[in-house]
Amino acid sequence: MDCLFCKIAKKEIPAEIIYEDGHALAFLDIDPRAPGHTMIVSRHHGATILDLPESEIGPVFSAVKKVVDLLKNQLGPDGFTIGINQGLVSGQTVEHLHIHILPRFLGDKGGSIHTTVNNPPKEPLKEIAAKLRKT
Ligand code: 5GP
Ligand code: ZN
Repeated sequence: MDCLFCKIAKKEIPAEIIYEDGHALAFLDIDPRAPGHTMIVSRHHGATILDLPESEIGPVFSAVKKVVDLLKNQLGPDGFTIGINQGLVSGQTVEHLHIHILPRFLGDKGGSIHTTVNNPPKEPLKEIAAKLRKT
């Protein structure tokens, strides 16, 4: 399959892999926005979380926890931002689900997840919630 992250998972393309198990692997982002900027990917190819079989969800998030623990112990950040870009509109450039782990340090001048968008709804929350409960 012509997928960059599948190729990294199969070791066909080199990457700085820092953790791997039977379901997932973690490697350093080639263009890091913070020291230890890491991505977790499933060995199963899927563009988004919706494309991942239910059985892979748990193992991927277990890997996230292990890698956060590793980064915390080895790099000593003050916190983390953990997130997924899903879809072109959000900035997803590689169509294989990846969870970004960004170690955060006091004074790193980064923002919170809230700074990625500021597009509050026009409808009241009650209306939106009612629409969502219908599904
Ligand atoms: P996205 O924007 O899709 O959420 O994130 C894709 C990430 O993959 C980017 O942060 C980019 O720097 C990283 N990336 C792109 N190509 C490579 C690569 O060949 N190796 C590694 N390690 N990271 C890559
Ligand atoms: Zn893939």
